[in-house]
Amino acid sequence: MTRAGFPGLLVTHLPDVRYLCGFTGSSAALAITRRVARLFTDGRYTAQAAEEVSAARVEIVSSAPAVHAAQWLAAQSGVSLAGFDPAHTTVAELSRLRAALPASLRRAFLQALPVPLVEPLRMVKDEDELTLIVEAALLGCRLFDHILSFLRPGLAEFEVAAELEHQARLLGAEGMSFETIVASGRRSALPHGRATAARLPRNGFLTLDFGIIHKGYCSDMTRTVHLGKPSARERSAYQAVLDAQLDAVAAVSAGASCGQVDEAARSVLRHAGLADAFTHSTGHGVGLEIHEPPRIGAGQTTRLLPGMVVTIEPGIYLPDEFGIRIEDMVAVTRNGGQVLTPAPKALIEL
Ligand code: ZN
Ligand code: ZN
Repeated sequence: MTRAGFPGLLVTHLPDVRYLCGFTGSSAALAITRRVARLFTDGRYTAQAAEEVSAARVEIVSSAPAVHAAQWLAAQSGVSLAGFDPAHTTVAELSRLRAALPASLRRAFLQALPVPLVEPLRMVKDEDELTLIVEAALLGCRLFDHILSFLRPGLAEFEVAAELEHQARLLGAEGMSFETIVASGRRSALPHGRATAARLPRNGFLTLDFGIIHKGYCSDMTRTVHLGKPSARERSAYQAVLDAQLDAVAAVSAGASCGQVDEAARSVLRHAGLADAFTHSTGHGVGLEIHEPPRIGAGQTTRLLPGMVVTIEPGIYLPDEFGIRIEDMVAVTRNGGQVLTPAPKALIEL
């Protein structure tokens, strides 16, 4: 905050609030000066806040915690202006916050942060966070093991999703980190094919992309398996995606740029004549949120740092034919990357 020239900071994005002070409730705002921090929440969370919050004093308010937080910041001596996160503040919210300030402060007190302040902290995971993320990822792998024995032609995709999600809860997951993707047969060509009533075919690919939440941290993995016997074309397409995935995982290391990692995957698929079928970026950061910085995409200049956790998930999508995606979570280490989702990647035929 000192370096960025902000004597005050208003934090309203809930994953940031949780990251900074531990509070997990659904209504809160954190006000920070260079010396103290104060968490504002409402009466539903009195007991929970007392239990969870560290490094900030808690103030229970009747409504609109962010308004109270902005007013509190404005009343602190030495706080001439406060930064807010423009990526997570709506136009309506900002005008409500400004309207609640003394008239002389309405125009200039709250200022959009030119660069995010909490995001860079969250990108690099500390030891405690890594432990939780490893546990989350391994729970995901156990789910994949379980679902393999459950799959058979004729099941509806939503039955597969239901079994996966039911088992996730039984294994202790707090919930799913996003809507489970079960895309079978021709539907596997939809990169985000949510589970439908479609039945698993006797012969064709099946893409499973799923994640769980464990103590607040998300897992994310994708495996594509084949029901029946794959054709030569399906086999070589799968091999191309696997090669792209392995090369991108190998490109992960401290100091590499996100664009370089993306290019490692993309160049393999280009050589296989599949460049146009790879329609998304190679991966994303994962932590308290399922999608968080950095983005592993073409031309991204962000450099990987030890402690970052990213997904590596190249895929190809051939409309009306099939799609294939393979996704791991990878922790960046000093001299490479550690795969956190060690489920098998060789083509599984069921
Ligand atoms: Zn995924
Ligand atoms: Zn992902």
